[in-house]
Amino acid sequence: MLKRVLVGCVALLALALALPAPAAEDYAAARQLMVARQLAARDISDPRVLAAMDQVPRHEFVPPALRGQAYRDHPLPIGQGQTISQPYIVAFMSQAVKLKPGDKVLEIGTGSGYQAAVLAAMGAKVYSVEIIPELAAQAEARLKRLGYAVQIRVGDGNQGWPQEAPFEAILVTAAARRIPPKLLEQLKPGGRMIIPVGSGPWSEELVLVKKGPGGKVTSHSLMAVRFVPLVGGDQPKP
Ligand code: SAH
Repeated sequence: MLKRVLVGCVALLALALALPAPAAEDYAAARQLMVARQLAARDISDPRVLAAMDQVPRHEFVPPALRGQAYRDHPLPIGQGQTISQPYIVAFMSQAVKLKPGDKVLEIGTGSGYQAAVLAAMGAKVYSVEIIPELAAQAEARLKRLGYAVQIRVGDGNQGWPQEAPFEAILVTAAARRIPPKLLEQLKPGGRMIIPVGSGPWSEELVLVKKGPGGKVTSHSLMAVRFVPLVGGDQPKP
């Protein structure tokens, strides 16, 4: 019996190894479908967001075993208990901050580097802070290999990146319990920040914060979302 099970396992393994990995053109086709069905068919209309998401090879940003799922309509694990956001959420956040080419953008939560690559593909100058050194190192190597110019720093994103401030836009890709005051300070007058904010675990509102030309701050909630938590310094404990 055991022998039969073992033979079965070996046969399955052999079959799995014999299956060819998807070709580059298969990924490109999956990406085009993702842009058409998950983004353009919903409310993503900024041509630069659509072009960037059509260009950035999302499958390069997920673990090899999950590449076949890279263009599906959901988030995926990227190791260290973290996730790469659903494509639609990446597009929605990239569109909401209304970037102009050459804008200086701060991202908090580099993760896989995918959101940073999309912003770079839109022509932004991207600075990204990640608190887990292993993820920062992997993302840095990946972005370099793929040719995206993104500055990455290991640190607590609650502190922002004061040496490079101010920023025209700030995207926070982990859920805060309250908006980090240092990030508000580092937003340029006229700038936009998008940040998931919530008091309960895994239940947040995506909030768009605008700083007027005179420095007046206004904010409004855009939709309910679920993100991994923003940890560190200024965040009150649950
Ligand atoms: N934008 C990423 C996904 C982010 S997941 C992508 O495109 O793949 C959220 C990330 O925020 C995780 O990598 C997590 O380690 C990081 N993070 C959590 N708290 C942080 C903090 N205080 N400062 C910087 N990064 C933080």
